[in-house]
Formats: sequence, structure tokens, C-alpha cells
Amino acid sequence: MGTMRIPNPNLARNYTTYSIVELSAALGVHYHTVRKWVRMGLTPIDDRFKMYFRGEDVRAFLIAQRKRTKRPCLPGTIYCIPCQAPKAPAGGMVEYRPITPRRGQLVGICPSCERMVYRITGAAQVEALTATFAATRIEE
Ligand SMILES: [Zn+2]
Repeated sequence: MGTMRIPNPNLARNYTTYSIVELSAALGVHYHTVRKWVRMGLTPIDDRFKMYFRGEDVRAFLIAQRKRTKRPCLPGTIYCIPCQAPKAPAGGMVEYRPITPRRGQLVGICPSCERMVYRITGAAQVEALTATFAATRIEE
């Protein structure tokens, strides 16, 4: 799961239909990989013939898979949705804002787009998490 390399989605062309063999050749993956993608949610053109795929569907699937694997943030980063990337908050500064006694959000500023970035966290993890930001913790 973690080690699976996801091919460049642009290798799957729009308005093109691929058989499993054609698709595996176009993307440079084994056809077993394509079969695995079908189990993971890649939709064939027709359920009765799990052999043919629309390029558009393949692209959308690969893009979603890439985002999924990028999602886990490194320590000291918060995922910025507009930038679609994990970002180290500007100045290493985050605030903890409790939502409930047990959960809250870490809030920082994205250094690239200067929008707020948020990360939901359990109160119990705040201490360990804020240490990775060199952060200031604001109590209510
Ligand atoms: Zn950003």
C-alpha cells in the first residue's frame, strides 16, 4: 500500500478507451496493478466487461490516489487545502483552539498563500504536536 508508485495521471488520455493490457502499457504498470485498482474503485466502462476503461476515469482515479497518499502530513506541517500541499506554518507559529474539552484545532498561516491552515487534533496530542512546530499554545 505505502510503497505503491502511482503513475502520472496525464499518461491516461481523455477520449481514449483502454483495455487492461493497453492501460498497463500506457502507464508502465503490470496488469495485475490495473486489476488491483479496479478492486480499489477504478470503474470500468461496463460492469459486465471489466476490461475497458475510459481515460478520463483513469485520470480521475490516479489523481485521487495521489492526493490520498500525499494526505498524511509530515511532523511540523499542516495541510493547506488551497495549495494542496502540507505546509510548515509561517514562523513555526500555531495556536490551539479547543472545540471540545478533548478535541480542538491547530491553526496557523500558510507561508505560500497566507491563508489559515487548520488541523484537527485531540487535546492529548497537542503537547507532542505543538513541539514539532516550535509553537505557542494559547489557552482559552
Ligand atoms: Zn497555502
